[in-house]
Amino acid sequence: MSDFVIPPPPQAAVPVQGGGLFPVRRIFCVGRNYAAHTSEMGGDPTREEPFFFTKPADAVLTAGADLPYPPATEDLHHEMELVVAIGRGGAEIVPEAALGHVWGYAAGLDMTRRDLQARAKKEGKPWDMGKGFDHAAPIGAIAPAARVGHPARGRIVLNVNGAPRQDADLAQMIWSVPEIIAYLSRLVSLAPGDLIFSGTPEGVAAVRRGDLLEGEIAGVGVVRTRIVS
Ligand code: MN
Repeated sequence: MSDFVIPPPPQAAVPVQGGGLFPVRRIFCVGRNYAAHTSEMGGDPTREEPFFFTKPADAVLTAGADLPYPPATEDLHHEMELVVAIGRGGAEIVPEAALGHVWGYAAGLDMTRRDLQARAKKEGKPWDMGKGFDHAAPIGAIAPAARVGHPARGRIVLNVNGAPRQDADLAQMIWSVPEIIAYLSRLVSLAPGDLIFSGTPEGVAAVRRGDLLEGEIAGVGVVRTRIVS
């Protein structure tokens, strides 16, 4: 017998390449981690401290499912990103030990209501409603690090309706995956099931209803979703 007074919510999860499900605990995201994207957003691309925001775990959208155009925006943007799946938790992890906490990697999209985010920035308010809406985290199947290793370089691309929008290399990240894990684990204790979106390269832009988004990270995998009404 359960003491829950309403049915407990379903466990958010992401399929794993080759079978199985990775349960999602939390979703952390790094802001401004590629110099050219930092510049296009009006920021200073020098190596400022990494900063983080979050999305709800159940914002994951998996298996190529359609993404319903979210409410309250007229400027929905794509941000193509390498996603890190944490398999072993820890606090104050040193960079040299960080990759031992990684279970795998995936291609993901940090979908953003840019108009709401821009207004929040201007008014000094939280980004949550710009970043953490329903279905805001489309993600492809997770590649186990045991199979693909720990990619520090490799092409990261996003096509919209077959035309290239973002095309960069993981090596252009300002903060590496080990550094991101080290920083974040000084702010919170990381736990198995945590996902970390590691930031997007330049080329972010608006999408419209009907658009097909297809992203790929060399050696990791793909992410795909169509924007529907
Ligand atoms: Mn992002």
